[in-house]
Amino acid sequence: MKEDYYEILGISKGASDAEIKKAYRKMALKYHPDKNPDDSSAEEKFKKAAEAYEVLSNADKKARYDQFGHQAFDGNGGFGGGGGMNMDDIFSQFGDIFGGGFGGGGGFSGFGGGGRQQRVVKGSNLRIRVTLSLEDVANGVEKKIKVKRKIQAPGTTYKTCSTCNGAGQVTRVTNTILGRMQTASACPTCGGAGQTIDKKPDDADAHGLKVSDETVTVKIPAGVVDGMQLKVTGKGNDAPGNGIAGDLLVAIQEEEHPTLKREGDNLHYDMYVSLPDAVLGNSKEIDTVTGKVRIKIEPGVQSGKILRLRGKGIPSINGYGKGDLLVHVNVWTPKTLSKKQKAFFESMKEDEHFEPKPESSDKSFFEKVKDMFS
Ligand SMILES: [Zn+2]
Repeated sequence: MKEDYYEILGISKGASDAEIKKAYRKMALKYHPDKNPDDSSAEEKFKKAAEAYEVLSNADKKARYDQFGHQAFDGNGGFGGGGGMNMDDIFSQFGDIFGGGFGGGGGFSGFGGGGRQQRVVKGSNLRIRVTLSLEDVANGVEKKIKVKRKIQAPGTTYKTCSTCNGAGQVTRVTNTILGRMQTASACPTCGGAGQTIDKKPDDADAHGLKVSDETVTVKIPAGVVDGMQLKVTGKGNDAPGNGIAGDLLVAIQEEEHPTLKREGDNLHYDMYVSLPDAVLGNSKEIDTVTGKVRIKIEPGVQSGKILRLRGKGIPSINGYGKGDLLVHVNVWTPKTLSKKQKAFFESMKEDEHFEPKPESSDKSFFEKVKDMFS
């Protein structure tokens, strides 16, 4: 399970914006990779703190997190799929925290701007949509997806950028009334990569990339929801030179099932029962996401009764158990009758036994719905 963002920063839920910022500043200083070389646990803490701050410093994201927890971001990329932030995202966040590239006032030279942190160029993300059956959603599935990715064209060679000498950024110093200000920005020639193309084959584009047809295997966990987005790291477009590839973002689309309706992790099934079966009892095969199942119809079953098949629903995406399958009993009344049938029912009309005498277990529809949600 993911750690609570407030706990990561060591603050309470009611912390003010200033407290959040202060707490993050402290964590970022303590666990900064420059101060903890080759310490992967510090780097992990550094990244976690950055992710927590990214959410809690944004009023909109914070409100969603406060209401829904980590689930708030499962559905729309962002931090979904456990991807977290990369170092590049984190350092770009520092402008806000430490004042960016303002080296003058005893700030943090070596952070964000001007330091030895070279900007990593990332390839663009690819987006694709997959349609899943309800069975796929319930059981999880591995999909082979055809994508057209841009890959580094074989034969492309790179050389150190002559504008920035490989640093990836250019520094400008200006004098202002606040004193000397130093600003760093990505190199306009190489876009921050520190490299430019030396030679490339004819079929490559200006960045030394070419389109390649590839098949990517995507593992889709059980319990995904329509509209959710999964991230396959590194399966987007390649970046030129020693940059890192973008991600493949997979949007989930759910197919409608012919007989089962999904509601969260629960499933609903409408079962129609004939008048004789309702009176005499029987058994009936119904659909579930793991195949057909035979269920018993008790003699005297009432229309509107809900049979709950525990654990026959959809597994929770968070791994907390499974939903149920709710079978709704509908007693079907024929609209037309033969003479003989009509005569039979007419003969029963005056029979007291057919007078409705609902017991407390024959709850009305509204009472049942109330029960289901309480
Ligand atoms: Zn450059």
